[in-house]
Amino acid sequence: MTLSHFSLGIGDRFARQGVAQLRALQAARDSGVEIAPVWNKSHREHSIVGTRPAGTRLAASAAVAAARWTGSYFVDADHISLSTAAGFLDDCDFFTLDVADSLGQIATPDEALAFLRHHPELTGPDSMRAAARFLPAAREAGRIYRFVRERKAGEFVTEVSMDETGTPQSPADLLVFLAALADENVPVNTVAPRFCGEFHKGVDYEGDAVQFEREFAAHVATLRQAVQSYGLPADLKLSVHSGSDKFSLYAPIRRVLHATGAGVHLKTAGTTWLEELIGLAEAGGEGLNLAKDVYAQAHARRAELCAPYAAVVRIREAALPSPEDVRHWREEQFAGALRHDQSNPAFNPDFRQLLHVAFRIAAEMGPRYLTLLERYAEPVGRNVTFNLLERHIKPLFL
Ligand SMILES: [Zn+2]
Repeated sequence: MTLSHFSLGIGDRFARQGVAQLRALQAARDSGVEIAPVWNKSHREHSIVGTRPAGTRLAASAAVAAARWTGSYFVDADHISLSTAAGFLDDCDFFTLDVADSLGQIATPDEALAFLRHHPELTGPDSMRAAARFLPAAREAGRIYRFVRERKAGEFVTEVSMDETGTPQSPADLLVFLAALADENVPVNTVAPRFCGEFHKGVDYEGDAVQFEREFAAHVATLRQAVQSYGLPADLKLSVHSGSDKFSLYAPIRRVLHATGAGVHLKTAGTTWLEELIGLAEAGGEGLNLAKDVYAQAHARRAELCAPYAAVVRIREAALPSPEDVRHWREEQFAGALRHDQSNPAFNPDFRQLLHVAFRIAAEMGPRYLTLLERYAEPVGRNVTFNLLERHIKPLFL
């Protein structure tokens, strides 16, 4: 199955903002840029919210019908492993095989040597070390891929991710990994490496954007080489996880895409729920009160909420406002602290990161949260569309 040249991981924790997100993609389409929406929600997020992949499929189909979206769209089994894949088989047609955990394993010298004998073109000075490091991950991808292939009726898109790990992967590492994936017969359409720098949830990139651009371009060239050498799918492209809000990288990525004609997949789903909170805060009254309640509980339970996201959030405790202070905030102060507008002095990236992982609190509120989402659907939807279109799609693609 082929994925469109450009694709965005969208969706939202509570499956209410599909139409608002499609509106942004429709605007891109009207400007001549086709971007495929991919609803993504991982096992981690499903278990925190208490939802199932069937609900994501239903929400996606309903949004596509309501928005009269005629392009292709997908539902992603995001970050699956062998232990979680089964629950996603019926409802997904995009599978993100997560092998980051296998990067901790090392192949034996004999295995690495056998692999390099099979691949005499891999002559880099570091190829022995890279083979030892990436063979187990590629084999794990093969196992998950075959598990899905043998049980899944119909076609699907295959993504392989190894972004949730501490050490960045070089272009040479990526080439070794792709060679090993090809040996495993994994027809990878998009691959998510761990890039240099920090990709924290919901905030801008931290790192050297010049180095990132050089590396991104080198990764693109590596993918092209792997397609030619190993017969991987011709549409193979890079995937940028925790891709929302990486504003300082969008111009570099855009330059590389423009110069090379490469495609990209960028995942943004996690921040949509923050736009819901911004819309509720702006609405004032009960909406603002709810947003403050979410923050107060999140602040009290911050260690618990951050634990599943340890690799991808970094919150400076001292920079968090006290819940008592926030209790006195007006609409624009709450929305301004949360909305990712770096030109606004009220913007607080630590406040934003904490609320990013606080959707468990809203899930626990259940009907109280969902009822207000419905009541304030207009300001919420307006923020969701604006964020995706103006802050993400336009800088990246238009
Ligand atoms: Zn990821």
